Amino acid sequence: MASYTLSQKYLSSRGGSYDFTFEEVVLQGLASDGGLFLPQAIPLMGEVPDDWTNWSFGELAYHIFSKYISPSEIPPEDLKEIVRKSYSKSVFRSPDVTPLVTLDEEKQLYLLELFHGPTFAFKDVALQFLGNLFEYFLLRRNQGKSGAQREHLTVIGATSGDTGSAAIYGLRGKQDVSVMIMFPKGRVSPVQEAQMTSVLDDNVHNLAVDGSFDDCQDFVKALFSDAGINKTHKLAAVNSINWARILAQITYYFHSYASLIKSGKITSSSKIRFVVPTGNFGDILAGYFAKHMGLPIEKLVIATNENDILHRFWKTGYYEKKPVHGREAHGGLPEDGVKADEDGVKGTLSPAMDILVSSNFERLLWFLAFQVHSLGPIEQQRKIAGQRVKGWLEELKSSGGFGVQHQLLQAAKIDFESERVSDKETLATIRGIYSTETPAAKEGRSQGTTGIAKHGRYILDPHSAIGVAAALRSIERAPPPETLHIALATAHPAKFSSAVTEALEKEKENGFRFEDVLPEQFVGLEKLPQRVTNVKKSDGLEGLRALIRSRVASREAP
Ligand SMILES: *Cc1c(COP(=O)(O)O)cnc(C)c1O
Repeated sequence: MASYTLSQKYLSSRGGSYDFTFEEVVLQGLASDGGLFLPQAIPLMGEVPDDWTNWSFGELAYHIFSKYISPSEIPPEDLKEIVRKSYSKSVFRSPDVTPLVTLDEEKQLYLLELFHGPTFAFKDVALQFLGNLFEYFLLRRNQGKSGAQREHLTVIGATSGDTGSAAIYGLRGKQDVSVMIMFPKGRVSPVQEAQMTSVLDDNVHNLAVDGSFDDCQDFVKALFSDAGINKTHKLAAVNSINWARILAQITYYFHSYASLIKSGKITSSSKIRFVVPTGNFGDILAGYFAKHMGLPIEKLVIATNENDILHRFWKTGYYEKKPVHGREAHGGLPEDGVKADEDGVKGTLSPAMDILVSSNFERLLWFLAFQVHSLGPIEQQRKIAGQRVKGWLEELKSSGGFGVQHQLLQAAKIDFESERVSDKETLATIRGIYSTETPAAKEGRSQGTTGIAKHGRYILDPHSAIGVAAALRSIERAPPPETLHIALATAHPAKFSSAVTEALEKEKENGFRFEDVLPEQFVGLEKLPQRVTNVKKSDGLEGLRALIRSRVASREAP
C-alpha cells in the first residue's frame, strides 16, 4: 500500500486538481489547468538530532526531500543515491557544496556561495537533482522494455544564458532523455554560449535561433501546445516552474544556518535575514518553504534589479507589468537611460533577473490567499485560494496587472521585505566590496574558491552585487548584533565579465586583472569543438518540429 503524508501529495495553484504524486509533478512540470504544483501542506522539519548542524549537504538534502517525496514513490535507498549523485565531489567543486563566507565581520554580513557547480551559477544546485530524477523515473518506467517501447523524454527549453547551460549539464549523457535548448543567436554572452555548445553528448542539442529570447520562448510555448508533437513525443520542461527545482533549493537555507551555528556566530536570540537576488522568484520561494518548515528566518529580503515588478508589489499591493499605481514605489523613471523593449523588459547588467513577471510568485499568492481565508473546512479554503489565484492570473493576462486586498499584502510583509537596485548601484557595490579587504577573500581561497582576486579582495558578479546592495540597506534597518544577514551569491563573476570589468576599470592601476578570476574551466572554452544547429524563425514551428523528430529518432536508433 502506498503511503503518503499531506506534504507528499500535490495540488494545482489554480484550484482545478489535487492529489498528484511527486513523479507526476516532476515529469509534467505544469498542471493541466495552467497552474503550478504545490505540496498540499508545508511539512515541519520535525525531530532532528542535536548534531544535525554537522550533517553534510547531502544528508540535509535527503532529510528535506523525504518530507516531500513518499518512500513508496522513491525508496529511501534510491533517494539517497540520487542525492549522492547530484551533490558529489565530482559535480560540485566545494566540499560544502554551497559554502558560506564572511563578507563583513562588523556588519555580520555573510555570503552564501551558490556557484560551485558545473556551470558556475546557482541553477546547478537544482538542475543536477532534476536531471537525476528524470533519469531515475525513466529507467524505472523502461525496465524490461526495448527499442520503440521505451519511453523517451524530450526536454525543451529557452534560455537567455544560465538556465540553458545548467539544464544541459544536468541532462548530458542521460539515458532516454533528449535536451533541446534554444537561445537567441549572438545575444548570449560568449562564455555562456560556449558553455552550452561545447557539450558534445549525443542527447544534447543546441539550437541558435535568429531572433530574440522571446522568439525562443514563443517556440517553446508553441511546441508545448502543439497536438502533433505531443502525440509522438513526451515533452518536459526544466524552467523554474518545475517543483523539484524549488525543492532542491530549500537545502542551502538550512545548510548555511547550520554553518553559522557551528562557527559559533549565532546565539539563540539572533535574528537571521536572507537576501536573495530575485527574478522568477524560485530561489527566494525556497527560503519561504525553509522558514515555514521551521528555520528561524526573521525576514526574506527580495532584491530586484530595475525590472522591479515584485518590489512594486510589496510597496503598493499591485502586481503590474507596467507601473500604473504607486509610481513613487520605484523612485521615478529608470536611471542611466536604460530603455525598456516593447514588452517592457529592461536589459540590465544582471540579465538572469531581467523578467517582466515572476512565474513562481503564483505559488506564494496561493499560500497567502489560503492563509487570509482561513475560515471553514480546509477543502473549501483550498478551493477559494485556487479561485483567487486563477482570477488574478486571468486579470494579469487580460489587463496587465491586478491588485490584492490590504490584508493579503500585510500577510506578504510578515515574511518578506523588498529592495530595488539599479545598474549604477550594482557597479558601485562591486567596486565598494572590491575596495575593502574582506575575510571572504581569504576564506574563499582556503576553500579553493575561484572568483577571488589576488590581494585579498573579493569580486562579486552583478547578480550577487544586487543582493549585497540590498543587504547593506537592510542592515541599516536591522543592524547587528541582533540581526545577521546572509546574502545569496548566485553566479561566479567570470560569467559576467563585461559588467565586472566595467565596474573595476579603474582598479587596473591597482593590479586588477580579469584573468585572475578566470576559472581554469573557462580558459580556452571558446576554442573547444562546438556543436550547434541554426534555426531560422522563418522555418516556423513546422521546421522545428521536423528537426526535433529527426534528432530524437537518430538517438533512438540502435
Ligand atoms: C536565475 C538567476 C537568478 C534569479 O533566480 P530566480 O529563482 O529566478 O529568482 C539570479 N541570479 C542568477 C545568476 C541566476 O542565474
